Amino acid sequence: MTVLCNESPQLIVDAKATLGEGPSWDSVNGVLYWVDIVEQTLHIYNPVVNNKSIHLGKYAGAVVPRKSGEVVLALHDGFYGLDLQTEKLTLLARSEQEPSSNRFNDGKCDPAGNFLAGTMPLEGSDPAGSLYCLTSSLQMKKLFDGVVCSNGLAWSPEYSTMYYIDSPTRVVVAFDYDIVNAAVSNKRTVVRIPEGEGMPDGMTIDSEGMLWIAQWDGYKVSRWNPYTGERLDIVQLPVARVTSCTFGGEQLNELYITTARNGLSVDELAKQPYAGGLFKIHTKVKGMITHVFNG
Ligand code: CA
Repeated sequence: MTVLCNESPQLIVDAKATLGEGPSWDSVNGVLYWVDIVEQTLHIYNPVVNNKSIHLGKYAGAVVPRKSGEVVLALHDGFYGLDLQTEKLTLLARSEQEPSSNRFNDGKCDPAGNFLAGTMPLEGSDPAGSLYCLTSSLQMKKLFDGVVCSNGLAWSPEYSTMYYIDSPTRVVVAFDYDIVNAAVSNKRTVVRIPEGEGMPDGMTIDSEGMLWIAQWDGYKVSRWNPYTGERLDIVQLPVARVTSCTFGGEQLNELYITTARNGLSVDELAKQPYAGGLFKIHTKVKGMITHVFNG
């Protein structure tokens, strides 16, 4: 049975983002943060009043709300705090071992309020990336390496499992998650994206523990049962490069979806005029909250 409401995704911001990514819902302020990685910009979508954009001057892989009311970003070379009033960036942590030929990509807070984010090479497809954790005491540690394109993260509703996507593998893996130490073990494959449907990119999870996976070059977000590997639902989008999604709204029953124009030809863009837009669809199932950085 479908958990989608009887509607198509609605284009809510015709942003024409080059690489829209990393949506996270701020339940205190009722706004959605998302980034355009290539344009080095933080976007703040406010369903009630005006939207706002802040140019950051560095690649921006991911953004999360912070308990102080600021946000924290995984930028090109490390984790930064951003004061939304003054727009001042403050370096929180950087890895000396991470090469400058890598940048941070997707990231998200775990239920304890640690910020996990992965890296990827700026060019090529070597497995030169790693997954890092910024703890609430602003210590940075590496969870694992050997990643090509670090992307979607999600935690099960009981917090004991972490789901993770390294996009070119075209699978979602699960780990047992030690929430006290932010440590992973017992890696196994739980979802496999079919041939010809692009690559899994960002993802989120709902209150039933089902995964919502954005499919880059797949024209869709799809909902999967990680316990059986079965696909349950499809949200069709009018654009190929669907990058990530998260639940928001007062009831957490609105799925926000980011997309990209990056790499599309003139002909493809003519067929996908809303590529790079921010979309929304209502669902009958509630999502899990966006966890806030606790440092
Ligand atoms: Ca991504």
